[in-house]
Amino acid sequence: MTDQLTATAIDNFDAKAGPPKTSLKDFWPHLRDHRFAIVIVAVVSLAATVLTVAQPLVVRGMIDAVGASEALGPWVAVLVGVTLGEALLRGLQSFALQRTGEAVILGLRKSLIARILRLPMHQYDHRPKGDFISRMGADTGVVRSIVTSGLFDFISAILMFLAAVVLMVMLDPFLFAITVGSVIVGAVGVTFVGKAIRVISQRTQEEVSAMTSLVERALASIRLIRASDATAHEEKRVGAAAARAYDAGVAMARLQATVQPLMSICIQGAFIVVLALGGIRVAGGQMSIGELMAFILYLFLLVMPVTQAMGAFTQIQAGLAAFDRIAEIIALPIEEDPAGIPLRHQHQTAGAPLLAFDNVSFGYSAAHPTLDDVTFRIAPGSRVAIVGPSGAGKSTLLALIERFYIPDSGAITYQGCNVRELGMSDYRNSIGYLEQNAPALGGTIGDNLRLGKRDATAAEMEAVLAQVQLTEVVARSALGLETQVGDSGGLLSGGERQRLSWARVLLGQQRVLLFDEPTSSVDSTTEKALLSALEGVSSERTLIVVAHRLSTVVASDQIIVLKDGRVDAIGTHGELLANSALYADLARNQLLT
Ligand code: ATP
Repeated sequence: MTDQLTATAIDNFDAKAGPPKTSLKDFWPHLRDHRFAIVIVAVVSLAATVLTVAQPLVVRGMIDAVGASEALGPWVAVLVGVTLGEALLRGLQSFALQRTGEAVILGLRKSLIARILRLPMHQYDHRPKGDFISRMGADTGVVRSIVTSGLFDFISAILMFLAAVVLMVMLDPFLFAITVGSVIVGAVGVTFVGKAIRVISQRTQEEVSAMTSLVERALASIRLIRASDATAHEEKRVGAAAARAYDAGVAMARLQATVQPLMSICIQGAFIVVLALGGIRVAGGQMSIGELMAFILYLFLLVMPVTQAMGAFTQIQAGLAAFDRIAEIIALPIEEDPAGIPLRHQHQTAGAPLLAFDNVSFGYSAAHPTLDDVTFRIAPGSRVAIVGPSGAGKSTLLALIERFYIPDSGAITYQGCNVRELGMSDYRNSIGYLEQNAPALGGTIGDNLRLGKRDATAAEMEAVLAQVQLTEVVARSALGLETQVGDSGGLLSGGERQRLSWARVLLGQQRVLLFDEPTSSVDSTTEKALLSALEGVSSERTLIVVAHRLSTVVASDQIIVLKDGRVDAIGTHGELLANSALYADLARNQLLT
């Protein structure tokens, strides 16, 4: 079922509405920090262009010198110098350009990751993770081409084109006019096709992203897929996505293939006419052979930038299409984090609640509230249990305390202050959270424990691991605390993962501890050890436990019974047995003894 839901989300997602259309102007802020490097590249590129366009003039000088029986040596030396100089400058330009391209991409990737990791929780609920990965990797790679080949090729092509034009006009305005006609026809064609290229390129990126999302989805649930014998089915889905990316790529190739011959015909036509008319003019004495040769070389120089500009234009369009997808993420608002009222531990007035929900309603979608008008108070240092049937909204309630979501109405207050006004880092640092199913961070045991306490010493970590009976697991590997737990803790058993989460939470010094079904994956002996570790937790720390075991519930100071997102009853075990039919039923039939 979940699998199907994710698939539908991916199918529906695929950015059909289309991200915002950006232009080079929107890209400029990402180039601004590199303007010094860009100026250097521009200067080197200009110098290289000067040397390129000087070559036909040198050739003309050589041919005319041969005609006038003058010495050839100096001309040859100049030609060699100019050619070598140009090669050197082009090499320098290429390196500086690639380096700038990498620096721009680094900046973009940093902006992206700063966003991707700070989005409001609902964005992760609805977007496939692979889509983020694709934007971070594939799209930024395509954007790089705007800098490395697109922009500069385009600018240097225009420079070269202008220089060739000026020199051709100076050599023979008549022949030049004939050339211009052909170039205009080609340029109009290229502009027209350029627009189509951008649309197709964006489609290609989207298809690649959809494919990445499907692969990521399949890998994340590989065991489920194998166990359900769905490998071939998934292979077909990913294959179909790859085929759609192929179709988009082929459509792109088709467009590019139209541009190339169009330009060749224009240029070849111009070349033949120039050769024929130029020959007549040389025969009539209106032009020297050296001038005709120089003109033809300039014609080649004109072809080169036009082809180069055409390729660059295509790359800029493709880069902008990828940049659209990056800009879409960068434009998303991040999770609310007010400048932050500092927490006032010391000002807790006696008898005041530590945490309070006042008429809180919240729905993942506008259509259906998951929590409806929830009100309760939690005293500092108290032990609170939350119970209720599956889907009643227990985990959602903890997620609201963690401030993963903001209530649609009502207020959650911590030490009398609305949690929306508290600084995020300060507030979250005061809460330890053991999630349902206890996911672990890919990395080492130490990495996971340090999430609870950044500066935990090895001795502290070992002590807490002993408390949750993980010493033996750590001792199995010579690496000890640096033992890898695998992707999302996949190298650990479910119970070991849950105990590792316990260790992380116990190690932290947070004032409030949220536990979501914290003993669901351990046997009763381990559970006893864990619960006794909990008893050892300072009485100043407040515990809020979504419980499925009667033993945890009975000992609580306060039990909140949830049903269909509403508070059904609040009280102690004894009170609720007498007053709440739902609780009595839960205690009798559903809570494990
Ligand atoms: P259980 O005991 O089965 O873990 P629960 O009481 O903890 O259930 P919640 O996980 O809070 O229930 O879910 C309450 C409702 O909200 C369910 O109907 C669930 O489908 C829905 N829900 C939970 N998380 C999300 C989400 N991220 N996006 C949309 N709906 C969600």
